[in-house]
Amino acid sequence: MQITKQGERLLVPDRPVIPFIEGDGIGREITPHVQQIIDAAVAKAYGEKRSIEWHEVLAGEKAFNAVGSWLPEATMEAFRTHMVGIKGPLTTPIGEGIRSLNVALRQELDLYVCLRPVRWFRGVATPLLHPEKVHVTIFRENTEDIYAGIEWAAGTPELKKVLRFLQEEMGVAKIRFPETTSLGVKPVSLEGTERLVRAAIEYALEHGLPSVTLVHKGNIMKYTEGGFKKWGYALAEREFPDRTFTEHKFRQIEAERGLEQAVEEYNQAVASGKVFIKDVIADAFLQNTLLKPEEYAVVATLNLNGDYISDQLAAMVGGIGIAPGANINYDTGHAIFEATHGTAPDIVGKGKANPCSMLLSGVMMLEYMGWHEAGALITSSLEKLFAEGYATADLARFMEQGKALTTAAFAQKVTDALQ
Ligand code: NAD
Repeated sequence: MQITKQGERLLVPDRPVIPFIEGDGIGREITPHVQQIIDAAVAKAYGEKRSIEWHEVLAGEKAFNAVGSWLPEATMEAFRTHMVGIKGPLTTPIGEGIRSLNVALRQELDLYVCLRPVRWFRGVATPLLHPEKVHVTIFRENTEDIYAGIEWAAGTPELKKVLRFLQEEMGVAKIRFPETTSLGVKPVSLEGTERLVRAAIEYALEHGLPSVTLVHKGNIMKYTEGGFKKWGYALAEREFPDRTFTEHKFRQIEAERGLEQAVEEYNQAVASGKVFIKDVIADAFLQNTLLKPEEYAVVATLNLNGDYISDQLAAMVGGIGIAPGANINYDTGHAIFEATHGTAPDIVGKGKANPCSMLLSGVMMLEYMGWHEAGALITSSLEKLFAEGYATADLARFMEQGKALTTAAFAQKVTDALQ
C-alpha cells in the first residue's frame, strides 16, 4: 500500500511500502540492522496490526554496477510514488554529470526543507557542561541561497560577461580586484522563504514548542537575508495571527505604546501558548547556542547558515557522527530520511560502523508517518544503552565507561532493549 497525501494530511496505511537505498560502503553494514530494529520496534508497538514493506531501490555504486546508472529513473519513480523513503550514504560519482546524488534527489522532488533535530543522549561525550540544555530542531532551506550553485570562475568569458553587465549596466564600482574575481549569485525568494518558515512554525505548533528563531545575516545582506527575516515575520503575522506572537510586533508595540505594554502583551501571548517568533543575526546565534542554548527550540534559516549551524549544534552534543536528517517537501508530502555521514571507506567491512545516524533518521521517519510509539521505543532503547556506556567504537572511546561493540552486537542490544 502507498502512503498518500490528502489535503494537509499524510495518509499512512498499516502496511506501507517504503523504498530504501541501502547505500555504498558502510551502508551495506548499517542498513539491514536499521531495518531489523525498525521492524522489531513496529512489531513491539503495534503487534500484527502494522508493518513496513521494505522495497529496495538502487542508487550510487551499487546501481552503477547493476544497471549502469548512478541514479536510475526507477529509483526516482519509487520515491515519487511512495512518498516516504530512507537512504544510506552514497559514493559521489567522480567526473560524472551529476554534482551529487543527494542533490539530484532533493532537486527532483523539490525537498525544500533539510530537517535536523539536535539533542543530547546521556552518556555521550560532549564539550559542553550542560549538553542537556540543547534541544533544537533546525529547518535549513534546501533549494536556494548557495545551494543553487550559481557561480562563474575568474578569467572565464562567462565571468567577463557578468562583470561587464554589473559594471556597465548596473553601475557596480565596488569590485576590488575585477581582473581576478570570481562571482556567485545568491537567490532568496519570497516563496522559498515562506514555505520554509511556514513548515517551521507548523512544526513548533504541532510539537508544542515555545519559539521559532529566524537566523540570518540581514544586517549585511539586506535584500536576501534581510528579506528572509522580513518575509518570515510577515508570514507569521498573516497566516498564524492567533497562534504566534512576533518579536517584530513586540518592537512595534514598544515604539507606539512603550516597553511595559509590549512586555505585557508578550507575557499574555506566552501564557496562552502562542509560539514566539524571533530573529537573531547568525554570528550572535552561534555564540548564543554555546552560552544559552535553552533559548532555542526551532530554528529556520537559509542554506549556508544552516550548514554551519547544523554541524556546530551536532558537535555540541557530541553527536556529529550520529546526527540524523531528512529532506522534506511538506506541501507534496515527499520525504527522504538519511544517514548524514558518508560511506566511511576507511572502516568498511570491519564491523565498526555506527548505525545510529541512519537509525535516528528512521525514528524521524516513523514520527513523520505518525507512528510515534515505535519511534519512541527506539529512542528510549538508545537512551538506555548510551547511559550504560554501550556504543560502537567511534562513540565508546570517548565515553567515561565506554564499552565498544561491533555494529551487529550493538544493533542486537538496541533490539533487545526495545520496551
Ligand atoms: P565519511 O563521513 O564517509 O567519513 C568521515 C570519517 O567519519 C571517517 O573516518 C569515517 O570512518 C567516519 N565515519 C563516518 N560514518 C561513520 C559511522 N557511521 N560509524 C563510524 N565512523 C564513521 O566522509 P568522507 O570520507 O569525506 O566521504 C566518503 C564518501 O562518502 C565520499 O564518496 C563522499 O562523497 C561520500 N559522502 C556521502 C554522503 C551522503 O551520501 N549523504 C555524505 C558525505 C560523504
